[in-house]
Amino acid sequence: MTQTHYDTIIIGAGHNGLVAAAYLAKQGKKVLVFERRSIVGGSVVTESFGENFTVDSVQTGGALRPDIIQDLKLASFGLQLDSAPQPFISLLPDSNSLILDSDPTKAAESIKQFSERDASRWNEFVRFMDKAASILDAAYATIMPRLPKNLNLRDGYGLLELGLELRLAGKKDMLNFIRALPMSAQELVEEYFESEIVRAAIISVAIHGSTLGPMSAGTGYTLIHNWLNRGGLANVNVGKASEITNALANAVKSFGGEIRTEAEVISIGIENQVAKSVILANGEEISADLILSSADPKHTLLKLVGAQDLPPEFVWHTQSIKMRGSVAKIHLQTNGNHGIPEGTLTVAPSVKYLERAYDAAKYGEISKKPYLEVTTSGNVVSIHFQFAPYKLKNSEWKVESGKVEKIAIETLNEYFPNLNSLISNSHVITPLDLESTYGLTEGDINHGQLMLDQFLFMRPIPSWSNHKTPIDNLYLCGSGVHGGGGVSGVSGRNVVKVLK
Ligand SMILES: Cc1cc2nc3c(=O)[nH]c(=O)nc-3n(C[C@H](O)[C@H](O)[C@H](O)COP(=O)(O)OP(=O)(O)OC[C@H]3O[C@@H](n4cnc5c(N)ncnc54)[C@H](O)[C@@H]3O)c2cc1C
Repeated sequence: MTQTHYDTIIIGAGHNGLVAAAYLAKQGKKVLVFERRSIVGGSVVTESFGENFTVDSVQTGGALRPDIIQDLKLASFGLQLDSAPQPFISLLPDSNSLILDSDPTKAAESIKQFSERDASRWNEFVRFMDKAASILDAAYATIMPRLPKNLNLRDGYGLLELGLELRLAGKKDMLNFIRALPMSAQELVEEYFESEIVRAAIISVAIHGSTLGPMSAGTGYTLIHNWLNRGGLANVNVGKASEITNALANAVKSFGGEIRTEAEVISIGIENQVAKSVILANGEEISADLILSSADPKHTLLKLVGAQDLPPEFVWHTQSIKMRGSVAKIHLQTNGNHGIPEGTLTVAPSVKYLERAYDAAKYGEISKKPYLEVTTSGNVVSIHFQFAPYKLKNSEWKVESGKVEKIAIETLNEYFPNLNSLISNSHVITPLDLESTYGLTEGDINHGQLMLDQFLFMRPIPSWSNHKTPIDNLYLCGSGVHGGGGVSGVSGRNVVKVLK
C-alpha cells in the first residue's frame, strides 16, 4: 500500500533539498522528496540537448562543503573529488590574455605583463580573499537569530561560537572583512591593483549572477561570496554537475528516503496555521509532520502557501524580496576543434566595459557588449551571459533568445575567430526558461539577490532568517535562505540543525 504520511516532506530535489533529505533520512526519519522535473538536481544538472551534446546546463561550477561530503559519505555514492584547480583566464584583444592560475607564482608571472607592482601584490590579495572567504563560511554555517526578537540560549550559543571563531581570524583581517562587504568591487580591487585589466578580471567574478555592476555598493560582498563558493576565481567541478546531485540522490535512497520526480507541489495544506500536507498537480494529497521547501521563498510562500494564510506584514516583506535574474546561458555544440583552453574564461576587458554591460540591465535591455564567462566540456562551449534582464523593456523573451545567442557568438568570435564556423547546434536558456523549466522565480539564480539587505539575519527577509516561517512545521531550506546561494549545500544542512 502506498504510504500517505511521512515524517518529513521536502519540496524540490535541487542539491539543498537533497542535502536536507539525506541528513534526515540518515537520522532514520521517513522522508519523501517531490521534484517537479523529470530529473533531480535543480540548477545542478547535466543534460543532453542532442547526440554528443551533453553539458552542465545551468550553473557554471561549484562544490559542496567538504564536511557535508564527509557526513553523507558521498564518495561512496559516486562523488569523485578529483577536480584539479583550473586557471582563470581573462580574454584580451590581439590573442593576448591574463592567466590567473591557481599557482600564485604562475599568476604573478602573467600579471607582470601588465604591472610589476600588481604582480608583487597578488599573494597579499589572495591571502586576504581566502581569509575573508573563511570568515564568511563560518557565518554561513551559523544559524542566524530572528533579530530583533529576543535571543534564546540556542541562538545565542551559535553566535557566541561564531564570535570566538571570528576573534581567531585576527583583528586586522576581521576589520578589513567588515569594511570590504559594503564596498564596491571596484573600490576593493583598486586598493590592491593598478592595472585595469587585472582589476576587471577579478571584478567580473563579483558580478557573476548578480544584477549589479562593478561600481555597485555591496559587490565587495559578492566577490567574497563567489570566491568562497569557487575556492578562488576559477570554477571547480565543471562538467560534473549531475555527479554531485546523483550522489546526493543515491545517498537519500540508500538511507531509506524516497524521491518522486514529475511530481509538482501546487499547494501546501494548512490547518490553523500549521502545515499538514502537500497537494500535487495530479490532485494527490500527502501528509507529513514537517514540510521543508527548497523552492525559492517567493514561490513557496506566495504561491504554495498563499497570502491568505500569512500575516500582512510578512506578505509585504516576501513580495519585496529582490529577485532580479539577468543571466542567460548559451551552449554551443562544436566539432571539438574550438581551441578554447580548459578553465574559466572571462570576457571582461575593462571595468567600464563591465559597468556598461550592467547599464543595459538597468534599462531593461540585453547588453550588446556583455560580460561573458566561458567554460568548455569536450566539444561543448558553454557561455554564461550577463546582462539579460528577466524583465525586458520593449520586448519579451519568447522572441529574444536568438538575440543573446547572436551577441554571445559575435563577442566570443572576436577572441576565437573560427568559432562561428564550427558550431553545429546550440541551446539557449533565457531568464524566462530559468523560471519556467528550472523553477527559479524571475530567473534569479540564487533564489534572491545576494545583497547586504538580504544577507545574514535578513535572508530571506528580516527577522525570519532561521529557516522558520509564520506557518508552524513549514521550513525553508533552499538558496534563498541564509547560507545560500551557490552549490555549497549549507542551507540544506543548516535547516536540519534547526530541527534538532
Ligand atoms: C545560470 C546559473 C549560473 C550559476 N552559476 C553559479 C556559479 O558559478 N557558482 C555557484 O556557486 N552557483 C551558481 N549558481 C547558483 C546555484 O546553482 C544555485 O544557488 C543552487 O544550485 C540552488 O540550489 P537549491 O537546491 O537551493 O535550489 P534549486 O537548484 O533551484 O532547486 C530547487 C528545486 O525545486 C524544484 N521545485 C520548485 N518548485 C517546485 C514545486 N512546486 N514542486 C516540486 N518541485 C519544485 C525545482 O524544479 C528545483 O529542482 C548558478 C545558478 C544558475 C541558474
